Amino acid sequence: MGSKKEEDLKVRKYRLMSPGPTPVPEKILLRMADTMIHHRTPQFQGILKDVNAKMKKVFRTENPVFIFASSGTGAMEASVVNLLSRGDKVLVIRGGKFGERFSEICGAYGVEAVGYDVTWGEPADPAVVDKLLREHADVKAVYSTLCETSTGVVNDIKGIAKVVSGMGAVLVVDAVSGLTADELRTDEWGVDVVVCGSQKGLMLPPGLAFLSLSPKAEELMERSDLPKYYFDLKAARKSYKKDDTPWTPAVSLIMGLDSVLDMILEEGPDTVIDRHARLAHATREAVRAIGLEIFSKSPSNAVTSVKVPEGIDGAALVKKMRDEQGVTIAGGQAALKGKIFRIAHLGYMDEYDTIAAIAGVEIVLSQLGYDVEFGKGVARMQELLK
Ligand SMILES: *Cc1c(COP(=O)(O)O)cnc(C)c1O
Repeated sequence: MGSKKEEDLKVRKYRLMSPGPTPVPEKILLRMADTMIHHRTPQFQGILKDVNAKMKKVFRTENPVFIFASSGTGAMEASVVNLLSRGDKVLVIRGGKFGERFSEICGAYGVEAVGYDVTWGEPADPAVVDKLLREHADVKAVYSTLCETSTGVVNDIKGIAKVVSGMGAVLVVDAVSGLTADELRTDEWGVDVVVCGSQKGLMLPPGLAFLSLSPKAEELMERSDLPKYYFDLKAARKSYKKDDTPWTPAVSLIMGLDSVLDMILEEGPDTVIDRHARLAHATREAVRAIGLEIFSKSPSNAVTSVKVPEGIDGAALVKKMRDEQGVTIAGGQAALKGKIFRIAHLGYMDEYDTIAAIAGVEIVLSQLGYDVEFGKGVARMQELLK
């Protein structure tokens, strides 16, 4: 003793509260450590058959949900290269980094993307989508995000779906961060394609991407002439019918997915969303109790975006939270760099994770010179979560 500095004696838990990746439950980690098996076996195909059935329940669709070994962007790219043809026109709702990504993918494949540029922090207006679709009657597909992770905005997908289906176009929704956090009734609302990734609400490591496909989207797919190989949905569809995959699947991640889907279905998909809503609401109220403002005008349950107060260094706040408090949150991206910080509620999260995050924010804000009365945010949260 005596020779060690105080810092060296600290046991510090690693708290991952960024909007992806997110913490992986212990029992899922153990499942993924299971013996490696061959994928062209009745054993693996049995697992895949169960997974495919359970995915439909979580995606709220009767349509197939295909699984790829890639990050979420792979499924976004698959939704472009499989539905469209050279020279096609689409409408892209751009209210942040992820909406922009759809435009960039379209650009890479020579698809004309008409942009609906939404002010960052605001949700897309279905009436504007309607107006743009009337102006561009030849639009084949509309691309939207459910939760625009870069701003913490949840979009009115139900309203957008109503407009899009009325105009005969196909609706593609990026629910990479939104699925399991924000309500999404795929078939009931008429959403044709939902894309997702493993490392957010689905509580897995990064490495899997998902895509659900409606019969209407399948029609577009039959005519698509854009180049594709790994992400060819015709190959995926052929294998899917035999509970198989065209290429080697990410066996361990799919075993983890099998157990994660059991966890979600046991808790109940609606209860999972309610839990996210409760944590997100308490976080917003706690943040306001500290005297800060919420950035999003239509806050998602997946992630809470908070304005960095005047005179405070936003990058330093995120860094001190991570390095000194052990809580990994996210800063702002692109134009929002240094202007907001983001606390996620995604996946394997409970009351005490959010209380820890708010307690840490109070400490760090005070260190950075912001006038904060300790316990104000925490107390508000305790009131709401008791
Ligand atoms: C995380 C995320 C993605 C996918 O990003 P990857 O890094 O490719 O997994 C796509 N859209 C949204 C809204 C996201 O939050």
